[in-house]
Amino acid sequence: MKIVIIGGVAGGASAATRARRLAEDAEIVLIERGANVSFANCGLPYYLGGVIEKREKLLVASAKLLRTRFRIDVRTSSLAESIDRAKQTVRIRELATGRVYEEPYDQLILAPGAVPLRPEVPGSDSPRLLTLRNLDDMDQIESLLAAGIREAVIVGGGFIGIELAENLVHRGIHATLIQRGPQLLSPMDPEMTQPLLERMRECGVTVYLNETLRSLDTTSDGVVVWLESGRAILAGVVLCGIGVAPESTLADHAGLEMGLRRAVEVNEQQQTSDPHIFAVGDVTEVSDFVLQDFGESPSYVPLAGPANRQGRLAADAICGREMHLNEPGVRYRGTQGTLIVGCFGCTAASTGASEKSLKRRGINYRKVYIHPADHAGYYPNAQPMTLKLLFDPQSGRVLGAQGVGGTGVDKRIDVLSMAIQAKMTVFDLEESELCYAPQYGSAKDPINMLGFVASGLLRGYHPQIDVESLPTPEQIASDASVPMILDVRTPLEFAAGAIPGAVLIPVDELRDRLGELPRNRLIAVYCKVGMRGYIALRILLQHGFDAVNIGGGWTTWRMHQK
Ligand SMILES: Cc1cc2nc3c(=O)[nH]c(=O)nc-3n(C[C@H](O)[C@H](O)[C@H](O)COP(=O)(O)OP(=O)(O)OC[C@H]3O[C@@H](n4cnc5c(N)ncnc54)[C@H](O)[C@@H]3O)c2cc1C
Repeated sequence: MKIVIIGGVAGGASAATRARRLAEDAEIVLIERGANVSFANCGLPYYLGGVIEKREKLLVASAKLLRTRFRIDVRTSSLAESIDRAKQTVRIRELATGRVYEEPYDQLILAPGAVPLRPEVPGSDSPRLLTLRNLDDMDQIESLLAAGIREAVIVGGGFIGIELAENLVHRGIHATLIQRGPQLLSPMDPEMTQPLLERMRECGVTVYLNETLRSLDTTSDGVVVWLESGRAILAGVVLCGIGVAPESTLADHAGLEMGLRRAVEVNEQQQTSDPHIFAVGDVTEVSDFVLQDFGESPSYVPLAGPANRQGRLAADAICGREMHLNEPGVRYRGTQGTLIVGCFGCTAASTGASEKSLKRRGINYRKVYIHPADHAGYYPNAQPMTLKLLFDPQSGRVLGAQGVGGTGVDKRIDVLSMAIQAKMTVFDLEESELCYAPQYGSAKDPINMLGFVASGLLRGYHPQIDVESLPTPEQIASDASVPMILDVRTPLEFAAGAIPGAVLIPVDELRDRLGELPRNRLIAVYCKVGMRGYIALRILLQHGFDAVNIGGGWTTWRMHQK
């Protein structure tokens, strides 16, 4: 059997090496346009920032290693130009010599990845507007930065833009990041990205939200970046991270079925509409792991984990694993979109459905927020985080989770990612037994706490009102049908800032001052993070008041105000 693979990085290299491990007798040809295979795209921003010091560290597996250890016929600087499906051949051009030849295949795997988008504005052909996809792009950016640039503009507030901003600051270059939408990291919910935005600004990055690139004027020593608001920034380089599009022209011209955003349509074994052609990674459409159960399947999620998994799976399918179809893992189950980004010590991560995606699709959900520390508060260096959990209001199934904060966000989102994968419920989170010693976690881990809060909510043990549903001070004053707001923190905390219209009764005085509260009106209680509010709520409910807790308290309310 002869397997030809187009694209030699995440998905392609995974497919090639897995195929070899399964089929010692297969002929495997790996075609890569660039000079290198299997390099670490995800490490590129960190080389530019000087965090990764040696360029060769980015070369995860060399062509030589793939040739000697795996006996893979690696052909770098070779462009796959077209596919003849009837003859089962690929036309390949050697970029160094211009030689063109036809390469036959029994099975073809497409892993060409995605192309970075460029803004379509006047002046966008500027040699100083660069995107970052591969080592050549990185070298080009590096040569501009090394020339002594002091000012850079980054267009796009996704994870590549954010990582670039952090790394430019490491190098002593001032970065201005412009983002078209109202928040960074658009797959996440806006309030959960707020701490990251604040951290970036604290560390000297200028961030403009709701701002768009209008045009670029390139001069002899820089570029004037004009924004829609009328602002102009003189920069040495403009780095663009506004998203990617599947590199699907080859597949399209070959007549393969295309899906969402012109990504290649594949089945659960990564097979395209042609049974001899598979496709993996950023070029493919995926099923959304959560939303597929609500009839909302197709999605486009270009991430390294899914690309690697899909490469492995295509090789499994090709190399005779069909007989184990019912074995878990041999079918692609869908993509959860688990992502993480770190910037100046602040981590933001997400898995599964976001609140805005559930809302957009009219899917019922409930949500809770908690603001725990990553490990026991009495042990040094505990760092705060915010976790948000989205779940089904009937079954309690976990639908999505997001986290932002310091150390330990990654661990919690990974645990919740597995909970989503296993279709677990908030009741399972209550029961989770996770590792604990004071320097690692808490005896009641944040995951348990999420389970306690969400399960209690579903059981009606502590009803909750979301911060978005709170009345204004005017409504509280004029309309007895809206809840009154009760702050149960200390007078000092109250004086430093409170939800508008709130009345203060500290939790420790509450039992003695119940007479001050109305019996014919809903009382919405809050504290700093929700814990004292919850205790106050239980007091009120047991004394016959109609009361709810304000989910996540003052901290959540503040995250929604920006
Ligand atoms: C700067 C950067 C940072 C990133 N950070 C993260 C991260 O932290 N976490 C994460 O999950 N993801 C990250 N990603 C995304 C991740 O790298 C991709 O999702 C993943 O590499 C996709 O794998 P792939 O195999 O589909 O494509 P790629 O890894 O891009 O490989 C495609 C290869 O195919 C080659 N090719 C294309 N067309 C042809 C052709 N016609 N002939 C021959 N060769 C061809 C290309 O030259 C390319 O080398 C990052 C990406 C970038 C660019």
